[in-house]
Amino acid sequence: MSGAIDDGRDWIHRTLHTLEREALRSADTHLLRLDFPGFADIAFYFKDEAAHPSGSLKHRLARSLYLYALCNGRLRAEQGVVDASSGSTAISEAWFARLLGLHFTAVMPASTAPGKIRELRALDATCDLVDDPAQVATRIAAHVADGACFLDQFGLAERATDWRGNNNIAESIIAQLARETNPQPAWIVCGAGTGGTSATIGRYLRYRRLPTRLCVAEPTGGAFAEGWRRCDRSAGASQPTLIEGIGRQRVEPCFLFDIVDAVEEVDDAASIAGAWLLRERTGYRYGGSSGTNLVACLRLAARLHASGQGGAIVSLLCDRGERYDDTVFAADWLAAHGIDIAPWRSRLQTCIDTGAWPHAAAVA
Ligand SMILES: *Cc1c(COP(=O)(O)O)cnc(C)c1O
Repeated sequence: MSGAIDDGRDWIHRTLHTLEREALRSADTHLLRLDFPGFADIAFYFKDEAAHPSGSLKHRLARSLYLYALCNGRLRAEQGVVDASSGSTAISEAWFARLLGLHFTAVMPASTAPGKIRELRALDATCDLVDDPAQVATRIAAHVADGACFLDQFGLAERATDWRGNNNIAESIIAQLARETNPQPAWIVCGAGTGGTSATIGRYLRYRRLPTRLCVAEPTGGAFAEGWRRCDRSAGASQPTLIEGIGRQRVEPCFLFDIVDAVEEVDDAASIAGAWLLRERTGYRYGGSSGTNLVACLRLAARLHASGQGGAIVSLLCDRGERYDDTVFAADWLAAHGIDIAPWRSRLQTCIDTGAWPHAAAVA
């Protein structure tokens, strides 16, 4: 200790140092290139966010949320940490909590898949299960009243990340394209869960004065799509989705509409067929939202192709497919949810072979 008063600054400094060391040990994620025979003039790139140590793009968000809480003086030694998440955010936040010697609690619906609860408990996290999703906010408030630090992914995702660079995902993508034929992509495509990724990318494209447009790939009827179309923050989803991580039921506080140039709505069966196609093309499994991204990329590519344009399209592989062995990649689960991916698999195959999106009548 250097100061006369122990205001906890020493612990904050040590904890920031631990986060800095973690960042230094971590490599940047690959920007994989995929070529599709029907699109000779279009290069597809997919940033492999599943490669982070905690398995998804939420590794970036969790690191930012801890830094933000620390630098705002909201997180102190021995304090508990809490967030509302049943998905990849909880896993990444629990991963960082363990690194920092903190105790993490995830408030989540009791209906959360047992595999996820096991994964969280293996990271020494507590799963606080609520029967009714409407009770989540009340439980969070109770943890905060008990002294826990609320990481607040949905409230802070767009501001906890440095949008002007500092190795954010957008800066990384643009840097990785530097020696490509088209270093300024025509489109970047991502999903919206918290909205943090689309906010970071959209702002960075303007800041760097790039012509690249941003497309949000959304499950059909999701709240981002409804809200963006009508410019209405009170919009709700018109249908639920099976795709995890995206397709929120309401317009989340970090959903920014003004920096999004297009929203592509993708049916769940198409997204899942997309995830299967990614497995064939890359040899690895990725989750359903990566499939949503792929389908949106193909639709944008077909439009570029039809108008005689070429260029690059960049998107994300959001999380590891192993998390979905019992769902997206399980035939009995698909059947139980009335999902038939066979027609979509042949449509997507036709699209990558011919460069044309299947005629509307064939998709009906
Ligand atoms: C969170 C998440 C997204 C969306 O990213 P946001 O930055 O939260 O909008 C997409 N896919 C998966 C698997 C996610 O966990």
